[in-house]
Amino acid sequence: MPELDAGTNLILIIDDSADTIRLLSGMLKGHGQILFATSGEAGIRLAQAQQPALILLDVEMAGMNGYEVCAALKTDPTTTDCAVIIVTAHTGMGSEIRALEAGAVDFITKPFNPPVVQARVQTHLRLQQHTAMMRQLANRDGLTGLYNRRYFDKALTQEFERHRRQHLSLALALIDIDHFKAYNDHYGHPQGDICLQRVATAISTATRRPGELAARYGGEEFVVILPHSDADDTKRYGERLCEVVRSLQLPHHASATAAMVTISIGSVSMVPSEESTTLQLIALADQALYQAKAAGRNRAIVSTWPLMPRPIGKGSPHAV
Ligand SMILES: [Mg+2]
Repeated sequence: MPELDAGTNLILIIDDSADTIRLLSGMLKGHGQILFATSGEAGIRLAQAQQPALILLDVEMAGMNGYEVCAALKTDPTTTDCAVIIVTAHTGMGSEIRALEAGAVDFITKPFNPPVVQARVQTHLRLQQHTAMMRQLANRDGLTGLYNRRYFDKALTQEFERHRRQHLSLALALIDIDHFKAYNDHYGHPQGDICLQRVATAISTATRRPGELAARYGGEEFVVILPHSDADDTKRYGERLCEVVRSLQLPHHASATAAMVTISIGSVSMVPSEESTTLQLIALADQALYQAKAAGRNRAIVSTWPLMPRPIGKGSPHAV
């Protein structure tokens, strides 16, 4: 689930007249990278592939007209965030309302007045940048910069469905900082926050394969989605991550486990079946985390499904 910030300042012109495309491209030089398409159908395909920040869309075209193209872009989740400005020779309230009803953010009339075109494009590019930033912030945890719980929940549901369709192993790792309450009590909350940030950075550095996603799950708990990972991959990942955090050498004099900050990891790897759910996946990882803690912490334990069918416990056993 990519965030839509890559398309910022990419401008797509959809117009069946090469002259208009040339004219608009000239006016918008320096405002962004210009792409163009000469039909509505080609424009939609290009928008899906490139996700431009802004689309200048001609109304009068052979095939799909601009209103139809606009409505199609707005109902497609991959292009719904692109801002569309309708371009037409028709003036008057009727066409303006029709453009807005189709989902356009603005309206430009021919013949063009270059300063007006430039000002409107500039305004909407700025708004798009702002929206992209807000969207990014809404998906991130403020303290650690990792993805937040809300974004994780969405991403997990998508990955789970994808792995189910493709019959692939999906792994999930739940990570908990050992004796973190004691850390906070001993060093104080500001230092505790720094500890969370250092561990989060270590997790994010160790989580770099395409599609892997690290999030703050809550408090001192983190969670990582590992696509296409079987039990062996997952075990290796967990052991490496424990080592990476140990090698930070963050002193923890209140820890009963080691002289430095350590983590426990509970993971699960499964090929999602028709009956299985994301809640099961999380519960199994949670159970493995409980085992890692019971076995002395500072370690990674992987459980697999359905090789190790255990009743799913109630509540959060590792919280005790
Ligand atoms: Mg035309």
